[in-house]
Amino acid sequence: MSGRVVAEDGIQSEDPPFDPGTTSFVHTAVLMDTMVRIEIPRGTPETCGDAVERAFTWFREVEAASSRFDESSEVMQLARHPHSPVSVSPLLFESIRFALDVAEASEGAFDPTIGATLERRGFNRNYRTGQAIQTPISDGPVSFRDVLLDEATRTVTLAKPLILDLGAVVKGLAIDLAARELAPFRDFAIDAGGDLYLGGNNLAGAPWRVGIRHPRQPDAMLTVVQVSNLAVCTSGDYERAVANGHHIVDPRTGRSTDSVCSVTVIGPTAMSADALGTAAFVLGLANGTTFLRQAGVDGLLITPDLKHRATPGFRRYQV
Ligand code: AMP
Ligand code: MG
Repeated sequence: MSGRVVAEDGIQSEDPPFDPGTTSFVHTAVLMDTMVRIEIPRGTPETCGDAVERAFTWFREVEAASSRFDESSEVMQLARHPHSPVSVSPLLFESIRFALDVAEASEGAFDPTIGATLERRGFNRNYRTGQAIQTPISDGPVSFRDVLLDEATRTVTLAKPLILDLGAVVKGLAIDLAARELAPFRDFAIDAGGDLYLGGNNLAGAPWRVGIRHPRQPDAMLTVVQVSNLAVCTSGDYERAVANGHHIVDPRTGRSTDSVCSVTVIGPTAMSADALGTAAFVLGLANGTTFLRQAGVDGLLITPDLKHRATPGFRRYQV
């Protein structure tokens, strides 16, 4: 895990023994190929149980719509019908629309049509079943400009046969939808393996503290940020590796990028922090930092030799 909630003393908190009033209600589940952890300070199963269940349900729904590892997902149904408008759910439509916006803003450094490339690079297994997917897609060049949206009919047209990968958008979207369910509690934390949303305050009544992992020392933290009502999303090259690299690929070369190895973004929604961070990762140290600033979020980028650069506003969150 790259970002994680840390206790006041900087040590990662253990799930406390249950004691309503003085401890947190904590629930975890494996969803979207990550451990999702929800914490509600002073919560009890009676007060929080149903809302937390609804929060987890959003993860399942977003995953069911968007997974390229599941033949029955909407994204894969769409892939089977290139060249014609396909009507999709609001969830999928919004994810694709946002992904295309980030693609446009990053001039294609971020590109959700990268699915077949990732599959060829070895990101081809359904984490639940372990089964390898093999999608019959030709090798021709594709880009985000081959995805056409029609707002009025809420349809998507793939102008070429292609596989969408929305991995950089949908985890954030699920976190935001879950956060909406938990909003009535005001104080809560959602941690989906490095992507977090922190509502209100922690159990001690102070803003949440999130440790940013040292990209080369698994148990060390590089810095700690303090936030309230914000998302903190980290992408690291150490998260998901295959033989020939990691999970963030430059669409222009088809290879894993290597100029930065960790990007953390702090922003108002997890969907934007997650996707903008992935885009900045591909853009590299200088361009990535400028990109984040122009997008109106704060971030910290780190290179493999531990050079780092942050947006001017990032420092105000650092403890
Ligand atoms: P994260 O570390 O959460 O930012 O995840 C990045 C995810 O985004 C990967 O697991 C891929 O699913 C997807 N991805 C990788 N490279 C790109 C890219 N250049 N543009 C858009 N999505 C990408
Ligand atoms: Mg991301």
